[in-house]
Amino acid sequence: MTTDTVTKSCWTCNFHDGWGPDTFLGRCKYFATQGKAAKDIPPEIVDKGCKFWKEKAGKTGKIEGDEE
Ligand code: SF4
Repeated sequence: MTTDTVTKSCWTCNFHDGWGPDTFLGRCKYFATQGKAAKDIPPEIVDKGCKFWKEKAGKTGKIEGDEE
Protein backbone atom coordinates (compact mmCIF):
# COMPACT_ATOMS: atom_id res chain seq x y z
CA MET A 1 0.00 0.00 0.00
CA THR A 2 1.32 3.41 -0.83
CA THR A 3 1.90 6.04 1.78
CA ASP A 4 1.81 8.89 -0.71
CA THR A 5 -0.07 11.85 0.68
CA VAL A 6 -0.50 15.44 -0.29
CA THR A 7 -1.45 17.81 2.46
CA LYS A 8 -4.00 20.38 1.42
CA SER A 9 -2.48 23.81 1.89
CA CYS A 10 -1.58 26.78 -0.23
CA TRP A 11 1.98 25.42 -0.41
CA THR A 12 0.77 22.36 -2.33
CA CYS A 13 -1.81 24.21 -4.42
CA ASN A 14 -1.52 24.76 -8.15
CA PHE A 15 -2.74 28.32 -7.67
CA HIS A 16 0.08 29.31 -5.32
CA ASP A 17 2.24 31.85 -7.07
CA GLY A 18 5.48 31.82 -5.15
CA TRP A 19 7.01 34.73 -3.38
CA GLY A 20 8.05 38.23 -4.20
CA PRO A 21 9.67 41.19 -2.55
CA ASP A 22 6.33 42.41 -1.25
CA THR A 23 4.71 39.14 -0.22
CA PHE A 24 5.90 36.65 2.39
CA LEU A 25 3.28 33.91 1.99
CA GLY A 26 2.88 34.22 -1.75
CA ARG A 27 -0.09 35.06 -3.91
CA CYS A 28 -3.11 33.08 -4.96
CA LYS A 29 -3.60 32.92 -8.72
CA TYR A 30 -7.08 31.47 -8.43
CA PHE A 31 -8.53 34.94 -8.67
CA ALA A 32 -6.50 35.55 -11.81
CA THR A 33 -8.39 32.63 -13.40
CA GLN A 34 -11.57 34.58 -12.63
CA GLY A 35 -10.30 37.69 -14.40
CA LYS A 36 -9.24 39.37 -11.17
CA ALA A 37 -5.86 40.30 -9.76
CA ALA A 38 -3.92 37.67 -7.80
CA LYS A 39 -4.38 38.15 -4.07
CA ASP A 40 -1.98 37.91 -1.16
CA ILE A 41 -2.63 34.75 0.82
CA PRO A 42 -3.74 35.44 4.39
CA PRO A 43 -1.74 33.75 7.19
CA GLU A 44 -4.83 31.96 8.54
CA ILE A 45 -5.37 30.29 5.15
CA VAL A 46 -1.87 29.42 3.98
CA ASP A 47 -1.46 26.20 6.01
CA LYS A 48 -4.91 24.76 5.42
CA GLY A 49 -5.87 25.94 1.94
CA CYS A 50 -9.36 26.81 0.81
CA LYS A 51 -12.22 25.22 -1.13
CA PHE A 52 -10.54 26.10 -4.44
CA TRP A 53 -7.44 24.04 -3.64
CA LYS A 54 -6.08 22.04 -6.56
CA GLU A 55 -3.08 19.76 -6.40
CA LYS A 56 0.03 21.32 -7.87
CA ALA A 57 0.73 19.95 -11.33
CA GLY A 58 3.44 17.33 -11.27
CA LYS A 59 3.44 17.24 -7.48
CA THR A 60 2.26 13.88 -6.34
CA GLY A 61 3.43 12.01 -3.34
CA LYS A 62 4.80 13.10 -0.06
CA ILE A 63 5.42 16.76 0.50
CA GLU A 64 8.66 17.73 2.19
CA GLY A 65 8.00 18.74 5.77
CA ASP A 66 5.02 16.45 6.23
CA GLU A 67 4.81 14.78 9.60
CA GLU A 68 5.56 11.07 9.64
S1 SF4 B 1 -6.07 30.35 -1.27
FE1 SF4 B 1 -6.97 28.43 -2.03
S2 SF4 B 1 -6.77 28.49 -4.28
FE2 SF4 B 1 -5.39 30.05 -3.40
S3 SF4 B 1 -3.38 29.05 -3.21
FE3 SF4 B 1 -4.46 28.79 -1.24
S4 SF4 B 1 -5.54 26.82 -1.41
FE4 SF4 B 1 -4.95 27.46 -3.47
